[in-house]
Amino acid sequence: MLSLIGAIQDLLFPPVCVVCGQRLAHSQPPLFCDHCLGELAFINSPLCPCCGLAYNGGDDHLCGACLRQQYSFDRARSLLVYTPAVAPLILRLKFSGQLSALSSLGALTARSPSLDDLSEPDWIIPVPLYRKRLRQRGYNQATLIAQACFPQWRHKIRHNLLTRPQPTRPQTQLTGRARRTNLAHAFALVKEKDITGRDILLVDDVLTTGSTVNECAKTLRRGGARRIEIYTVARSWPEARRALLKEEPAPSDHEDRRGEPGALIGAADYQVR
Ligand SMILES: [Zn+2]
Ligand SMILES: [Zn+2]
Repeated sequence: MLSLIGAIQDLLFPPVCVVCGQRLAHSQPPLFCDHCLGELAFINSPLCPCCGLAYNGGDDHLCGACLRQQYSFDRARSLLVYTPAVAPLILRLKFSGQLSALSSLGALTARSPSLDDLSEPDWIIPVPLYRKRLRQRGYNQATLIAQACFPQWRHKIRHNLLTRPQPTRPQTQLTGRARRTNLAHAFALVKEKDITGRDILLVDDVLTTGSTVNECAKTLRRGGARRIEIYTVARSWPEARRALLKEEPAPSDHEDRRGEPGALIGAADYQVR
């Protein structure tokens, strides 16, 4: 009976690739044609065990930023490099209310071995939007990503523990010091006691320099959170590269040439246009 309903559905709403719209022969997510699936760059080991920065050779090793303990979170993992194949999915999800890619991103997340590094949390917290932005958009894309990518932990999703009382400018428009002041006090806890001693998984769409999720993590840490891990669908390659270029060689990283910019994943291949 179910397969009959599925067949009728496929006839009425033929399954298409969520990137290019090409007709597909199957309707089970992930809905990508072979070409678009081939364009996706999955982030796997070797990477920085802490922040998830990926390298294209050698073993897992801490990057300079994590050796300097620059982040307030314990671990960050992303599914994909933010390539031209992924960008339209994220942009449509964020700005056009087109949510068709969610189930496909969820199916890819379930298959990704590098996400096994994430521990089961007490709470999943989507990175909150400023109230006015939430009203304009009508939904928080980070919440939808959390629901699609972690269906087994759906009951752990909490939107009322962390808020964003201050509007902020997009971090991509700012550099250095302006980025840090832009986000200072951007987030606040609603009830500190709900955070104390808890293990948290923060979810967002794209990790660029990590400053947004790091500010969230700082706020959660002040509330006494125990373990804080991050999941994002994509990690922005050019931003990650710029962050790495600014790194000074850390003492124990000094002889280790694998961490230099050219060794980052996709150095030649994944230029976002
Ligand atoms: Zn396609
Ligand atoms: Zn790192």
